[in-house]
Amino acid sequence: MPPAHPFDDDKLKEECGVFGVVGVANAASVVALGLHALQHRGQEAGGIVTHDPEQGFNSARRFGLVRDNFTDEDTLATVPGPIGIGHVRYSTAGSKGATQIRDVQPFFGEFSMGGAAIAHNGNITNAMALRRELIERGSIFQSSSDSECIIHLMARSMGRSIPDRMEEALRKVEGAFSVVAMTRTKLIGCRDPLGVRPLVLGQLGDGWVLASETCALDIINAKFIREIEPGEMVVITEKGVESNHPFRPAKSRFCIFEHVYFSRPDSILGGRSVYETRENIGRELAKENPVDADLVCPVPDSGTPAAIGYSLQSGIPYAMGIIRNQYMGRTFIEPTESIRNMGVRLKLNVNRALIEGKRVILVDDSVVRGTTSRKIKDMILDAGAAEVHFRIASPPTAWPCFYGVDTPQREKLLAATMSEDEMRDHLGVDSLKFISLNGLYRAVGEAKGRDASAPKYCDACFSGEYPVKPADMLEQGFEMKTAAE
Ligand code: SF4
Repeated sequence: MPPAHPFDDDKLKEECGVFGVVGVANAASVVALGLHALQHRGQEAGGIVTHDPEQGFNSARRFGLVRDNFTDEDTLATVPGPIGIGHVRYSTAGSKGATQIRDVQPFFGEFSMGGAAIAHNGNITNAMALRRELIERGSIFQSSSDSECIIHLMARSMGRSIPDRMEEALRKVEGAFSVVAMTRTKLIGCRDPLGVRPLVLGQLGDGWVLASETCALDIINAKFIREIEPGEMVVITEKGVESNHPFRPAKSRFCIFEHVYFSRPDSILGGRSVYETRENIGRELAKENPVDADLVCPVPDSGTPAAIGYSLQSGIPYAMGIIRNQYMGRTFIEPTESIRNMGVRLKLNVNRALIEGKRVILVDDSVVRGTTSRKIKDMILDAGAAEVHFRIASPPTAWPCFYGVDTPQREKLLAATMSEDEMRDHLGVDSLKFISLNGLYRAVGEAKGRDASAPKYCDACFSGEYPVKPADMLEQGFEMKTAAE
C-alpha cells in the first residue's frame, strides 16, 4: 500500500494499529484483513498471534506490508484457530532504524494459568523507570519495546486470572495505551484512563472484534457496536462482552490529531465522520484565514477533505493542482543518484495547465520540519503560479508527542523555533496561515472552542500542555513549557 502521504519523512507518524477477533472460523484471515485496513498506522512490520484448541498458540511476525506477508494460504495456515490478535507498527521508542523481528508485536507470555499475547498502540511514558525496576528484580527483556513492560508486570502480578494480572500491570503504566490481548479463550481490550488512542468494538456474526479504527470493521463487514470507553477494560468470550473500569476516573483527552491526520477519512471517531470533520476544518480555516485567489488545491492525499471544505466555504474553485503517482510506494528502488535527486517529482506532479498564471491556495494537514512544504512551493512556482498561499489544517506543531506518535525532537519542529511570519519567509510563500486551536476545536464539534481550564482533547503537540507527565523524557532533559511561553 502506498504511504498515506508522499512525504513520509516530513510527517508525524502514528506508530501502531491493533486488531483482535474471537469466535470466527479462521481468525488469522480476519486479523490480516483488519491489519490491512489499518496499514496507514504503521508500515514497518506486522504480526499475528492465534490460539487453536489442538495446536495451542502460534505466531507469525514479518517486516513489511500486510499484503506482502499475510495473504498466502501457507502463512495463514501456520496461525490456525478461532481467536487471534494482530499489530502493525511504524516503530516504537528506542528502536528506530534498528528494529529486530523480536520487537515486532504481539508479545507473548506464558503464565501459570496459561499463555497470553498482547498488542499495544500508544507509548508508555514511564517505561524507562519500569524497565529499570523490572530488570533489577530479575526480568529478562527480549525486545527494545516499551510495550514488553506490560508482559513482565503481568508476570510479577499475584492476580488469579490473566485479565486480573493485566489490570494490575496497566495500573502501573503511565501514558497512552490502547491494548488488545488474548488468552486461549478470551479477547481483552483496554484503553488508558484518558483514552488518548482509539479502540472500537464490533460484531462479526457470532464473533467479536476489537480494532483501532472503524475502517477495519468495514473491510470484514463487521457491525460497529461502540468505542471502548477511556479507562474501560472489556473481556470478551463467545458468550459476550464483560466491561470493567479498573482505573481511577479521569476526564477523557483523546488525541485531536487523529481527527486531523492519523485516522483514515472513512473512519468514525467519537460518533463523527473523520472526513466531515476534516471538511469542517477546511471551512474554519477559510473563515479564519481568507485570501483572494483563483484555486484551492490540496496537497494529496491527506489535505484533500480540508481543501474541499476551504473551497466550499470561500467559494474559490477546488482543483487537483497536484497529482500523486499512485504507484509510488516506499518500496520504489531509486537506482541512480540523479533519479534520487528528483525527490518529490517522483511522487508528485504539478498539473501545469491548471496552475499556470493562477493564484493558488495550497491546503496541507500540517507543517512539521517544513522541508517538503518548501519543495512543493518550488514545484508550484516552477509551473508558473502567480502566487502561492499555504493554509494548514492544524495549528503550528511546536511540541513533540510522547503518546505513540513519532515526532522529531523539539528543535527540529519549524514552529518551535520560528514565528508564523518567519515560517512564511522561510518557506518563501506569499502567505502562510494555520487554523487556530479554537478553530480546530470548533471543527471537531466544540462550538465554544477550546476550554482552556479543561480541554476535551490532548493537543499537547500544539499547546505544549501535556495531559500525562512525560516522566522518561523529563529524566532525559526535556523541558516542559514555562509559564512565560
Ligand atoms: S501530543 Fe499531539 S499527536 Fe500526540 S496524542 Fe496529543 S494531540 Fe495526539
